Amino acid sequence: MVCKKCGVKIEKNWEYCPNCRENLLNENIETNKETIIEKTDKDKTNSMICIFVFLINIIALFTMDHYNGIFFILALISIVTGFIKYPNSKIIKVLFWLFLIGVILYVLLIIVLLITCLNMITNCDVSGMSNFG
Ligand SMILES: [Zn+2]
Repeated sequence: MVCKKCGVKIEKNWEYCPNCRENLLNENIETNKETIIEKTDKDKTNSMICIFVFLINIIALFTMDHYNGIFFILALISIVTGFIKYPNSKIIKVLFWLFLIGVILYVLLIIVLLITCLNMITNCDVSGMSNFG
């Protein structure tokens, strides 16, 4: 924090600037409030953009037949960025955990499918399998 009048370094709780004797108390409180409101407003807009991008990509992921990997990565990036940068947003938190659980379940499902596939392949007669092709 610096004094508005002379630019000297000041502490938050100081009443007067030690250099120019400028009264800091009222001004600091007001500017702090303003910056906090401005920041939360900006954060709200940015977190909404994150949520919007995430939802668009999730919808695309489930409706489009192609480029699923790209939509997945974009959704992942937007929700992880939102989760790290705007931890106050409850919507982002919920979406992040839902997404994480979804991904974990999906990976588990693939592992289970792979294991059953491998079991089927090893149990099946190889010459019998070629008839399906
Ligand atoms: Zn000063």
